[in-house]
Amino acid sequence: MANQEDDFKRVVSHAKEYGYVVQSSEIYDGLSAVYDYAQNGAELKRNIREYWWKAMVQLHGNIVGIDAAIFMHPTTWKASGHVDAFNDPLIDNKDSKKRYRADVLVEEHAAKIEAKIEKEVAKAAKRFGEAFDQQQFLDTNPRVQEYQQQADAIVKRLARSLEKEDLADVKALIEELEIACPVSGSRNWTEVKQFNLMFGTKLGASADSAMDLYLRPETAQGIFVNFLNVQKSGRMKIPFGIAQVGKAFRNEIVARQFIFRMREFEQMEMQFFIRPGQQKQWYEYWKEARLKWHLSLGIPAENYRFHDHEKLAHYADAAADIEFRFPFGFKELEGIHSRTDFDLGSHEKYSGKKLQYFDPELDEHYVPYVIETSIGLDRMFLAVFSNALQEETLEDGSTRIVLRLPAVLAPVKAAVLPLIKRDGLPEMAQQIVEDLKWDFIVQYDEKDAVGRRYRRQDAIGTPFCITVDHQTLEDQTVTLRRRDSMEQERVPMASLSARIHQEVDMKHWLLRMGAV
Ligand code: ATP
Repeated sequence: MANQEDDFKRVVSHAKEYGYVVQSSEIYDGLSAVYDYAQNGAELKRNIREYWWKAMVQLHGNIVGIDAAIFMHPTTWKASGHVDAFNDPLIDNKDSKKRYRADVLVEEHAAKIEAKIEKEVAKAAKRFGEAFDQQQFLDTNPRVQEYQQQADAIVKRLARSLEKEDLADVKALIEELEIACPVSGSRNWTEVKQFNLMFGTKLGASADSAMDLYLRPETAQGIFVNFLNVQKSGRMKIPFGIAQVGKAFRNEIVARQFIFRMREFEQMEMQFFIRPGQQKQWYEYWKEARLKWHLSLGIPAENYRFHDHEKLAHYADAAADIEFRFPFGFKELEGIHSRTDFDLGSHEKYSGKKLQYFDPELDEHYVPYVIETSIGLDRMFLAVFSNALQEETLEDGSTRIVLRLPAVLAPVKAAVLPLIKRDGLPEMAQQIVEDLKWDFIVQYDEKDAVGRRYRRQDAIGTPFCITVDHQTLEDQTVTLRRRDSMEQERVPMASLSARIHQEVDMKHWLLRMGAV
């Protein structure tokens, strides 16, 4: 556990030190669970956004993208269910005065029991060596089975009580499991209460005519209310999708995991409109397609897993998360939800406008069903960033910190470094920058010894360093150094653009979606 915490601290401090993520309004001591992206972070985020947009919109002839406003008519949130049902059950510890999500306290308790299983597996694997059959061990070891039953029973009971909105039972469960506050260590809890996560604000100047609004808690509703506009103006035929990237706001109760859970964040969502009855097949299709997108970035598959929901939201008939192994354990990164006709049907009811599609093949009008894919851009950032940050020991015994970002997402693609600051080398290096800057974000750096400059670029994840020396002046060749292998190669200046392109080009990476 201590190790996990240290790893996570390293991620947070590296993000700050190298211009990725900082606390919002830091000079005023920051704002809780609100963060700013600095120069490198803004580029990484932009690249992730573009990688998603290309995969979802550009590569699908039947998916288009929109950009809806953050403010929406307040009835939207009645229709979507957010006014009545977008609540988290919260509980306070009377001694520490800390507030927790009651469901999270229980889930974490269950996760601790599951962690014991992982420990047993690791122990057994060591004991049995090559002959170890993990599945057989999981199926037959009595201690493991008991842990699994305990964890399952807890998760089931929690799901049941939340479904029935039986908050007294959630409290009872916390008491029975003897869950203590991590800060005070006491079990002196308040009752469990529901807390709505939407931020309210007012539109209009005078107090009596002002209208109560909410900052949108998800981008999806901007898509649903535009369903007919897009379908008609784009003459879209079912099945088709509408995608959107944008800010969402939630007044999260527990917001302590850096950019994993923020109060202002960005979502990348796509709603796929289908014929009723075909939801099962499209749900499976999108689960698989989205996992392929993740794997195309070359992040090892063992860091991902599906988690099927026990407790379904009011709008869903099936739901799964793609979970990622964050530094603090497996947690939701993306959700894939089969939302039925709940949203469009509900907006029809509240708006009095028909939100239907005429299917020429069936010769019939219907309210389409929807499959949603929804991923947090900031969470994806954290997944990519935390996975990339590595400390390695080199052959000479020294260590280096390297950010092995997928080259396609790296903020700076190449750094151009004159070996020394005279003899025309800086001018030559500047000329290379001038050449490359039209295609890539490149940096010029002439300060310090070249080894230190390499380390600086390793730490921000730059895949290529280009070093200009005296030989360059004679034969127009440079040294091309690769971040991951640290290999150096002498190459003609004229070939640089093509070489970099080959490794950072989105097409080249996206094509892997077909291969994984
Ligand atoms: P959680 O259970 O972690 O609160 P959720 O199930 O409420 O998440 P959804 O409503 O399904 O999340 O939102 C879709 C995606 O948006 C999530 O998978 C996550 O990546 C992202 N997301 C949701 N809430 C936040 C937040 N507070 N900060 C950053 N990203 C978020």
